[in-house]
Amino acid sequence: MSADLIDHTDKLEGHLLEMRIDAIRQKAGEREPVPVGHCHWCEEPFEEGSQRLFCPGEGLKASTCALDWQTSQR
Ligand SMILES: [Zn+2]
Repeated sequence: MSADLIDHTDKLEGHLLEMRIDAIRQKAGEREPVPVGHCHWCEEPFEEGSQRLFCPGEGLKASTCALDWQTSQR
């Protein structure tokens, strides 16, 4: 095995490691919403102890908060 080949292999290994770290970072960066007592999107306050993440909407008109929030996460 030549020294050049070893050097090349080291670089490849390093590159793969970087890709792996990026993948882990991206996974960690995924924001899983948790109930915070108000809408994650428009910050409309909910009743105390509410486990809601987004506005439920009114009557037949569903809130678009969850959808808007999801779109903004991309
Ligand atoms: Zn909302």
